[in-house]
Amino acid sequence: QPAAAAERLQTACARFEATQSLPLLAQCLDALARVQTALGRITQALAAREAQLRVTASIDRNMQREQALLLTGEFQSSQRELDNLRLQRETERQQRQLQEAARHERVRTGLLALMALVLIGILLYQRRTFRRLRSARRDAATDSLTGAASRRHAMDVLQRFMSQWHAQARVFSVLVFDADHFKTINDSHGHAVGDRVLQRVATAARAALRDSDVLARIGGEEFLVILQGAQLEQAAALAERLRAAVQAVPMDDLASGLGATISIGVAQVAEADRGPEALLARADAALYQAKAEGRNRVVAARR
Ligand code: GH3
Ligand code: MG
Ligand code: MG
Repeated sequence: QPAAAAERLQTACARFEATQSLPLLAQCLDALARVQTALGRITQALAAREAQLRVTASIDRNMQREQALLLTGEFQSSQRELDNLRLQRETERQQRQLQEAARHERVRTGLLALMALVLIGILLYQRRTFRRLRSARRDAATDSLTGAASRRHAMDVLQRFMSQWHAQARVFSVLVFDADHFKTINDSHGHAVGDRVLQRVATAARAALRDSDVLARIGGEEFLVILQGAQLEQAAALAERLRAAVQAVPMDDLASGLGATISIGVAQVAEADRGPEALLARADAALYQAKAEGRNRVVAARR
């Protein structure tokens, strides 16, 4: 029943067109074209075929548009992914740089601290060395038991005075004194008491002298005094005061009945004294004479 079919198909096609159901509309128009052809209605068949072609073209365009949209979307999303990836890479790179910088900073701080420690170490070591040197020099210049100058220091001073004497005729005198019967003190009361006696003798001698005078311990119980600017008579007078001062030092607290005396030889520097030894030898000879004459006395050497 082609005629009825054609009528129904036209209705259906109109419906599909109204709802824009394009694939169904294309199918419908195709069927309509064939039915009209069968009916011999060539013009209508051609119209249906043309309409079908337009619809098919429209469907194609729609599909192309959707395809394009889809592709654009995909492109944009992959672009975004790429951007994200790039951003992530950049962030990672910056983090690595920060970590590297922090590591460098730590190394630098460590090195600085190490350098500071080394520097402090060197300074401490130098200070210690300096102090040791200073105390060694002081030890060499002083006698640890009595606090008097050392023999070496006294000889240095004597040498200097001797040079000044020869160059500028600056007079000076020396006393050499020695504790009397000191062996007996040691033997009777012990070495420790002997030490205390020596300390007191040195202290008493120091108190009887001027600051510019040099007191030195040049032997076990033997001392040297250098008197700057003193003539023989002044030196002998001072020696007498010194002798009396030592004799007056109380020693009872060390051992009952204990006392100490000294014998003193005095000499003034002379033209003939080539070096300190000659002067000391004359003072020694005077001391020897004082011992021989009974001790606890002063003998002045002839000029
Ligand atoms: P002299 O009157 O002739 O000088 O008689 P001396 O006994 O003092 O002389 P001697 O040379 O026979 O003895 C000196 C003594 O001094 C012997 C030695 O043991 C003692 N002596 C030396 N140095 C020290 C010291 O540092 N401490 C003490 N306790 N005794 C010392
Ligand atoms: Mg003696
Ligand atoms: Mg002696």
